[in-house]
Amino acid sequence: MNPKSIALLGSTGSIGGSTLSLVRQFPDRFKIHSLSCRRSINVLVDQIKEFAPKQVVVEASDQVNQLRELFTESELEILCGDQGNCELVQHPDVDLVVTGIVGSAGLSPCLQALESGKDLVFGNKESLVLAGELFMQVAHRSGSRVLPMDSEHNAIYQSLIGHRREDVVSLILTASGGPFRDLPLEGFSEITKEAALQHPNWEMGNKITIDSATMMNKGLEVIEAHWLFGIPLEKIEVVIHRESIVHSLVEYVDGSLIAQLGQPDMRIPLAYCLGYPERLPLALPRLNLCELGSLHFENPDPVRYPCLGLALAALRQGGAAPAVLNGGNEAVVEAFLDEELHFNHIASYLQRLMLLLERWRQKPECPNYLQHINSVDDALAADRWGRSQLRHLLETTS
Ligand code: MG
Repeated sequence: MNPKSIALLGSTGSIGGSTLSLVRQFPDRFKIHSLSCRRSINVLVDQIKEFAPKQVVVEASDQVNQLRELFTESELEILCGDQGNCELVQHPDVDLVVTGIVGSAGLSPCLQALESGKDLVFGNKESLVLAGELFMQVAHRSGSRVLPMDSEHNAIYQSLIGHRREDVVSLILTASGGPFRDLPLEGFSEITKEAALQHPNWEMGNKITIDSATMMNKGLEVIEAHWLFGIPLEKIEVVIHRESIVHSLVEYVDGSLIAQLGQPDMRIPLAYCLGYPERLPLALPRLNLCELGSLHFENPDPVRYPCLGLALAALRQGGAAPAVLNGGNEAVVEAFLDEELHFNHIASYLQRLMLLLERWRQKPECPNYLQHINSVDDALAADRWGRSQLRHLLETTS
């Protein structure tokens, strides 16, 4: 069998790095057709030397020139920006698109990949938060397979195979609870950026690590699961499971719970997606249940994790609310990482943003994109609105 030819978006991020380590490990199964990154040009240069892609995409035109000078002899095609990403995912030689792009920048290339009938290994939850309905419509129309690499969705994907969708009672997403699950509530005003970046179980990028600490990440994952699996919000539960061993579960009408368990290592769900329907023999430490001894589960405390409730309320509100919340969250997390505000102000700014949206939606001059998402442009406009209104709130209250 020919190796699967991969277009990898976000090649210099943490998902990109894990994907490349699997490609390196299984050269007879996978090869890199193209790579795309935003800023880490030096890392990209090393990746080009090692994996010899046919195409690369960088963000800015000066980076295009920089790469042209470095690779004068080779036939490497160098493209630029969002348009470059959309071109790269459609290439006829690409079998599988893997996207590790963080944030709303992932939406257009993901949709383009689906429209071109490519199978998509998907880690960009923002695409579903911004435009879930649109996204799934395109996937169903084109017959593309959407393989979720996020550990929870991957576990649910695996737990649904071989069962009838109408027999599902609920999806149960597990959450680690982040680094502050045991911190007394009065300590929340003292949380530093460094402490928030220490995730107890997973190694991930900065934005998603902060989102895990607030549990906004879990809220966005509920929205993602709702669209991806076509299950209504009332049938999706979140439980805190501090060991991050049970990655999620599906409950069926006969009382059976089907789960996927494994080490908290992103390479496992990623390898599942890349190899699908085959499983790759990974040389990782085995999960030893007896050494583990016990597993714990508890309900998330809404006072400790207000961002989780905000995300669920946004999905209930529907229309543009999840996209606005996502844009606002990106802005407020950026501000927290720049040390402009306290950790516990993340949720209060987002609460104010969602109230503002509610007020705007009553106004006759409310733009259509704040009511309904009918296109990618609407989704991106709602996301931008959330981001800019949140920046405005930050500037006017600091
Ligand atoms: Mg996750």
